[in-house]
Amino acid sequence: MMTTLIRQEDLIESVADALQYISYYHPVDFIRALNQAYEKEANPAAKDAMAQILINSRMCAQGHRPICQDTGIVTVFLRVGMNVHWEGSMSVTDMVNEGVRRAYMHPDNTLRASILEDPDGARRNTGDNTPCVIHYELVRGNALDVHVAAKGGGSEAKTKFAMLNPSDSVVDWVLQMVPLMGAGWCPPGMLGVGIGGTAEKAMLLAKEALLDPIDIHDLQDKGATNRSEELRLELYEKINQLGIGAQGLGGLTTVLDVKVKDFATHAANKAVAIIPNCAATRHAHFTLDGSGPARIEPPTLEDWPEVAREAGGDVRRVNLDTVTRDEIAAWKPGDALLLNGKMLTGRDAAHKKMVDMLAAGETLPVDLNGRFIYYVGPVDPVRGEVVGPAGPTTATRMDKFTRTMLEQTGLVGMVGKAERGPAAIEAIRDNRAVYLMAVGGAAYLVAQAIKSARVLGFPELGMEAIYEFEVKDMPVTVAVDVNGESVHQSGPQIWRARIVDSRG
Ligand code: SF4
Repeated sequence: MMTTLIRQEDLIESVADALQYISYYHPVDFIRALNQAYEKEANPAAKDAMAQILINSRMCAQGHRPICQDTGIVTVFLRVGMNVHWEGSMSVTDMVNEGVRRAYMHPDNTLRASILEDPDGARRNTGDNTPCVIHYELVRGNALDVHVAAKGGGSEAKTKFAMLNPSDSVVDWVLQMVPLMGAGWCPPGMLGVGIGGTAEKAMLLAKEALLDPIDIHDLQDKGATNRSEELRLELYEKINQLGIGAQGLGGLTTVLDVKVKDFATHAANKAVAIIPNCAATRHAHFTLDGSGPARIEPPTLEDWPEVAREAGGDVRRVNLDTVTRDEIAAWKPGDALLLNGKMLTGRDAAHKKMVDMLAAGETLPVDLNGRFIYYVGPVDPVRGEVVGPAGPTTATRMDKFTRTMLEQTGLVGMVGKAERGPAAIEAIRDNRAVYLMAVGGAAYLVAQAIKSARVLGFPELGMEAIYEFEVKDMPVTVAVDVNGESVHQSGPQIWRARIVDSRG
């Protein structure tokens, strides 16, 4: 019987190379689909968000720097041929983790280490983005087939699962769930749907579905031949009719594709899981056959459209160092701003620490009075950069701290991504504060606006420390104004109604 010998170093190197590759190259099918959605978008705010994601993508492909500051949790699917033998002293799991370590600590393109051990305890950063999540399957044959993905935390957080009754409608359930996902998953992207099996099998199917290329238009042309394909077509159309749009601003495209995988199930069950893939869609596939490490052909820059942001009529420049509460009160949801001057940063861990310190009557390491805070955890800089990619993180995670922060520190504004929840909106209204959104998935582009960065507080928190950034013309949109009006409520409502009207 023919056997294949796979060397430890070949697998490590191939995994590391693939992870570096997907950190800065979007899949070409994603770029094409996003560009199509960009061209047909009728809401200028959503169109601009997609322009930023496309421009960011091209810059990352050119500069070999991450598409998003969240460089993801690595998930690897290994299909191991039963005739494969191994040369090396490590377990296969250790080899894959070594590949992750090398990729994330690469000196020319260091990626953000986002993995914390002891998840319900100390939540300590492991420092090198390990361990990754690995799924194994033993299959016939002589080759090792590998899919690597790096999944953003914001989109993973929007996963939904239900054990439906056998007679319940999957379409109805999905259409109920998608609006609840808000915009923290950085739409437009893909939706993976897993149906059947057991609870964990449905989840795995949904995740695996996201590894397939975007090809919904081919399916529209050829028509469905089975139930999964029927569901794809129906869900793609009906989800886009919800009008959620890019970044939840309202618009014609919320999903670029819907992928469905199913598996036989018990007569009493119909498990269903949905997992979205965000603007930072990152996955690659390679095969090892014993002849050495895999090399994934890089795309050519011609695969990226040349997109220029249309100069909006009413873009307002704001000086954060002198801005007054009266000026802020004049901003309306949907207004486009260019931020200049100094702002602070802080995300989950810094907020928890500050709120605990305030409760204990301690003085904070920074004075937030009259300041803006940007919810971000940047990638470390390389090659003379001021800061690595530094896009916004999901703002709802800071909602529970917002009232305390506004009332006890004098903070006037926040910058993040996606919507705010009702409690945060009430706190913003009661304190006549404001919430601005930057585009999630345009992190390298946003980082170009950051002219200096220094750590002011909690240096022990690493990427979650409080920095002070000096920015020049950083593009943001007013998302919640001083009256508590939210563009994430009004935008999708307006666009949903327009889509319904246009269909007569
Ligand atoms: S694009 Fe959005 S959801 Fe995806 S990794 Fe970046 S911030 Fe997270």
